[in-house]
Amino acid sequence: MIVLGAGIVGVSAAYAAQQRGLSVILLDRREPGSETSYGNSGVLSSGSILPLNKPALWSMLPKYLSNQHPALRWDPAWAVRNVGWLARFLANAIPSRTRPRADALHSLSVATLKLHREWIVQADAGHRIRETGWLKVWRSDGSAAAKAEQAFLAGYGIGSELLDRQAISALEPNLLPVYTTALLHSDTASVDSPGEVVKAYARMFAGIGGQIRQAEITAIVPEGDGWRVLLPAGELTARHVVVALGPWSADLLRPLGYQVPMAFERGYHQHFQPTLPRSLRRPIHDLEGGFVLTPMEQGIRLTTGVELTGRDAPSSFAQLDAALPLARGVLEFGEAVGEPWRGARPTLPDSLPMIGPAPRHPGLWLSFGHQHIGFTTGPASGVAIAAMIAGAAPPFDTSAFSPARYL
Ligand SMILES: Cc1cc2nc3c(=O)[nH]c(=O)nc-3n(C[C@H](O)[C@H](O)[C@H](O)COP(=O)(O)OP(=O)(O)OC[C@H]3O[C@@H](n4cnc5c(N)ncnc54)[C@H](O)[C@@H]3O)c2cc1C
Repeated sequence: MIVLGAGIVGVSAAYAAQQRGLSVILLDRREPGSETSYGNSGVLSSGSILPLNKPALWSMLPKYLSNQHPALRWDPAWAVRNVGWLARFLANAIPSRTRPRADALHSLSVATLKLHREWIVQADAGHRIRETGWLKVWRSDGSAAAKAEQAFLAGYGIGSELLDRQAISALEPNLLPVYTTALLHSDTASVDSPGEVVKAYARMFAGIGGQIRQAEITAIVPEGDGWRVLLPAGELTARHVVVALGPWSADLLRPLGYQVPMAFERGYHQHFQPTLPRSLRRPIHDLEGGFVLTPMEQGIRLTTGVELTGRDAPSSFAQLDAALPLARGVLEFGEAVGEPWRGARPTLPDSLPMIGPAPRHPGLWLSFGHQHIGFTTGPASGVAIAAMIAGAAPPFDTSAFSPARYL
């Protein structure tokens, strides 16, 4: 079996399949965990089960349409070209289509957090996980929104704590007193280097006999009852192929007749020198500022909200530029470290990943489209794909993630 893509999703599928006794090659043009799975905020979230296209999106739309809100910027030319995707995305933001998606993402999240907590220790990376939750913070009075979110999470048995200004200071003493309300997602964890965690999982895969190869994949071609994976110098063959190429997944599937409706919620990060000991203990998500600040191995990582545009369109640092003074107003930190990073959250119109068989090609398996929570949900996606390939039952109900809903 060959897994295409060594982000968190591909590494997890490779490890889970090798554990099942399959002989697996993991293929990527870069080292494991070097792209989207490197640059994210490192939150292992139990409660991110309401996607961006939820009913509350409608009340935010006027602000978003002005293209001034730091949480979401969009490129009008891209919107015109992708009006069909946008219409499908918005059509899902109604209550009757939101609850089933939250249910599905909740099952996936429960299964995946259990795996991360086991794997990270087995991979000798247990020192990277912090069981300190993550904090959503409001500048203006956010108590109604925080209470509503708390009630919603409680409906799924997901723990959270409502905090006022004083309680926020007690929890994060180095935050300046800017925030009036916070919701601590207490069942959530985070890591200090998502890229290193993926590398550790890849080493764990190699440790049980998995093979890791570095090469550009140029095409996948069905042949007999298996697959040829074409590389610049030669090819590999296997009975099963898993496409786990994150934001690049649609490219290799187009020649096979699959039009994957994927859009790219791009985001940026920049690291800054921490002013020790005045740092953070957990990631904080400033909802009105539209950014996340999280303590990482490389320093304080500032990540931005969503930029809807082409995957490979030139970078615009407007959101980072807008977030930086706001971030400096809540935490003391030093100069920038290294260059800004850009990545693309791969998103399908219902904000659910595809996890399952390609409808018209036996032996072709798809696992991509994990939007904002792919670092969290990679392990369970991988375990589910490996189970399906082995003809066993996945650890959660995968029907909502069936590729056949779009392909
Ligand atoms: C700013 C930002 C913040 C985020 N924060 C969080 C968070 O806190 N928590 C969370 O759970 N999720 C978060 N996410 C989302 C998460 O990072 C992604 O959903 C996840 O990393 C996707 O993983 P993947 O394995 O599908 O893709 P990737 O990690 O991008 O892996 C795809 C791999 O395919 C390889 N590849 C592509 N094409 C080819 C080819 N032709 N040949 C060879 N190799 C190829 C690439 O090199 C890459 O390694 C965030 C995303 C962003 C952008």
